[in-house]
Amino acid sequence: MNARTAVIVGGGPVGLTLALGLSRAGIRTVVLERGDRAVEVSWKGSTIHPPTLELLDQLGLAATIVSAGVVVDRLQYRDSELGDYAELHYSVLGEHTPYPFRIQFEQYKLLDLLRDKCQADQDIDVRYGNEAVQLDLTDPGAPAAVVVDRDSGEQSVERADVVVAADGAHSAVRKILGVGFDGMTYSERNMVLATDHDLSRVADELGPVSYWTSPYGKISMIRTPDHWRVAMTLPSSAHSNDLAGVGRSRLHNVFGLPVDMSLNQAAAYRIHQRVATTLHMGQVCFVGDAAHINSPTGGLGLNSGIQDAFDLVARLRTEARVQDAVSAYSRLRALVAKYVVQEISGQNTAMSATRQADGRRQAIERLRGVASDRRQLADHMLRVSMISAARAYPPGSSNVPAAGLIRGAR
Ligand SMILES: Cc1cc2nc3c(=O)[nH]c(=O)nc-3n(C[C@H](O)[C@H](O)[C@H](O)COP(=O)(O)OP(=O)(O)OC[C@H]3O[C@@H](n4cnc5c(N)ncnc54)[C@H](O)[C@@H]3O)c2cc1C
Repeated sequence: MNARTAVIVGGGPVGLTLALGLSRAGIRTVVLERGDRAVEVSWKGSTIHPPTLELLDQLGLAATIVSAGVVVDRLQYRDSELGDYAELHYSVLGEHTPYPFRIQFEQYKLLDLLRDKCQADQDIDVRYGNEAVQLDLTDPGAPAAVVVDRDSGEQSVERADVVVAADGAHSAVRKILGVGFDGMTYSERNMVLATDHDLSRVADELGPVSYWTSPYGKISMIRTPDHWRVAMTLPSSAHSNDLAGVGRSRLHNVFGLPVDMSLNQAAAYRIHQRVATTLHMGQVCFVGDAAHINSPTGGLGLNSGIQDAFDLVARLRTEARVQDAVSAYSRLRALVAKYVVQEISGQNTAMSATRQADGRRQAIERLRGVASDRRQLADHMLRVSMISAARAYPPGSSNVPAAGLIRGAR
């Protein structure tokens, strides 16, 4: 029997994108979200790549995001000590996508748009303050989530044709099912800051997105609609209780920025590259960060989660049996997460982490070479903007290759 109902655990951006897609496919959805309706302003994602905009356009959201976001027409790769920099332009993608640019639009604003849209959809019932605490798999054809209402403490059971875990990197559903989260964690800690200080003057012709190498590790500067965001390697000696002080001092030493510059946010984080050992167990499956997490350098995580959601919708809509839909979804999206997303994010992270002057110079020179050769530039931009993989494996693609043959990462 094909799917008519779904329970989604997690009303984050991926879970809600999935709910909207399922509604368009005629599948009624209950979304369980343990938090409140109000969206917290946080320091998470902001990059939206062209294929994700194409998908969000199907939900009627792309025009709003493009008009409210920062349009990034070029990426810059710079070094804090070497004069030359590489600039890679998105215009080379003009014949490949209606969106030949990347957009910076804060994840919390996207989440707010998605929550409004779900609220207006009569086939979607988002239950805030509802936490999934257990699964009931006694009927394999109708899995259920056991839910606790955080206000009243009352417990209930939500059953459907498919249960989808969109409950983030620490997924309770993944842990309840005992599904592994294989991969690695980088040893270095990182921090992200948001500031109202105008960073456009730290260098001549500074673009809206620049990735810097330096003797101290990587620094990235991203213009979002509300702030400049800076991410950097945290010195191993830094104490987490003075992140703002550490950040200001690094930016002062490297760029001469004021030691008392305003900061709106400062948070430390670790970088992981992990994929769940399977993206489904019976008729329960995983999407977004519950399924895979990767280095944020290059802004791929949320984008790949949204692409998961569209793939799952396409399969649940067309496959006659839910089991076939979720197992084909699991096979393809696990491969894309491991061999495309992690490959690209790993390369981005390695390149920007180089500290020796020779290695830094070579990295910039290599990218200047890419920028000066149209074919290489197109290949590079198609890859880092996720277009190569999106074209090779569109939602519901029947093309599920062997691991070594997956395309889109090089
Ligand atoms: C510093 C940083 C920068 C990033 N930048 C980018 C970027 O530029 N571009 C990009 O594509 N990605 C980026 N990412 C990654 C991106 O933020 C994540 O991939 C994204 O949040 C994943 O969305 P999600 O919906 O899968 O999970 P989440 O956003 O974690 O949402 C999970 C939801 O599930 C709810 N939940 C959890 N457990 C339960 C439960 N048991 N019951 C009910 N509800 C539950 C939570 O309250 C939450 O609302 C970045 C990440 C970091 C750390």
